Amino acid sequence: MPVGDDETTIRQLPLPGAPLAEVVAALESRYDPALAESWDAVGLVCGDPAETVRSVLFAVDPTAAVVDEAIATGADLVVTHHPLLLTPVHGVPADDAKGRLVHRLIRAGIGLFAAHTNADRAADHGVSDALAAALGLADTRPLEAVGAPRTDTLVAFVPVAGADRLADALSAAGAGVMGDYTRCVWQTTGTGSFIPGGEAHPAIGSQGRLERVAEARLEMVVPRDRRADVLRALQEWHPYEDPGYAFFENSATPSRAGLGRVGELAEPITLRQFAERVARVLPATPGGVRVAGDPDRPVRTVAVCGGSGGSLLGAATAAGADVLLTSDLKHHAVSDALETPGPALVDVAHYASEWPWLSVAGELLARDLGGRVQVAVSEHRTDPWTWHVPNPADDR
Ligand SMILES: [Zn+2]
Repeated sequence: MPVGDDETTIRQLPLPGAPLAEVVAALESRYDPALAESWDAVGLVCGDPAETVRSVLFAVDPTAAVVDEAIATGADLVVTHHPLLLTPVHGVPADDAKGRLVHRLIRAGIGLFAAHTNADRAADHGVSDALAAALGLADTRPLEAVGAPRTDTLVAFVPVAGADRLADALSAAGAGVMGDYTRCVWQTTGTGSFIPGGEAHPAIGSQGRLERVAEARLEMVVPRDRRADVLRALQEWHPYEDPGYAFFENSATPSRAGLGRVGELAEPITLRQFAERVARVLPATPGGVRVAGDPDRPVRTVAVCGGSGGSLLGAATAAGADVLLTSDLKHHAVSDALETPGPALVDVAHYASEWPWLSVAGELLARDLGGRVQVAVSEHRTDPWTWHVPNPADDR
């Protein structure tokens, strides 16, 4: 969403706002910090979680110009893709460029939040999803999927009368979570039978005699990392000395989270037409759109990666992509790629490739918070390359 022409627009809107803590929770529910790289620095950089946020400004980079804009437009929170403090610091003195920004933000009562590699990898509304959507790609999937957490199914047999109590205990230990639903249990009833041995101390029945018991069969999904806890709860809460149970391994489910996306254009177009489309939908930058490959090559399957996605060339090739659109591609990688079968390459400014995410994330946040906050996309192009010298040959 664009910032209004009148800079006082945001201040005049009577939006109720939401506590910063709630805004952060909404952002992190879409952009899970657990998806971030270990070296990354995502989350809240500054800001009081108890203060009210009425307007949020989205930008690719936390530059001084973006902070100026946040102050001028009365924003309460700046959400950037790139972290301000990616490398560890011991302090934020105001005579340091980054420290000065922190000081200015805090003095103006503005929070700063970064969603970086967690936004790259997030399912459905990630940085590359936004880039793919801007180009009109359909049926997109990650180029390098993040494996969904593995799960097993626990099957346990328990006397019918104790089924609910056992299900409660298993649920408390982490079983039965499916998306937003908890204590998910499949239950059938039948007859269990057994003969207690000479050393047994059966809860039901007696030694050496066949016993038949009305039992429930409970089935619950168990995240693999909770398996030990769930088994402990089963043994603790089951009335039998030796409970009947088994874990069945669930097959891995394809994940929508991960780096890069590959998808299909509605109609095949030439590489030249594709590059022209890229130039049309992304913000113009001095570096423009650079292309390596035959301009007449047909393009239908398109791989994209917002930011530096050169490492995904192998995945794009394996996915059968006709072209890979990303940024920061290096000379040797491009040169080598042209010598081997694989996708054509389109290189744009790093900033431009991530820019489509700003409005996607902004609109999502406004919706998730029920329209209580105003969102805007920074007017500043934070591409650090700001001008270029035209080729003299172009004027001839
Ligand atoms: Zn980036």
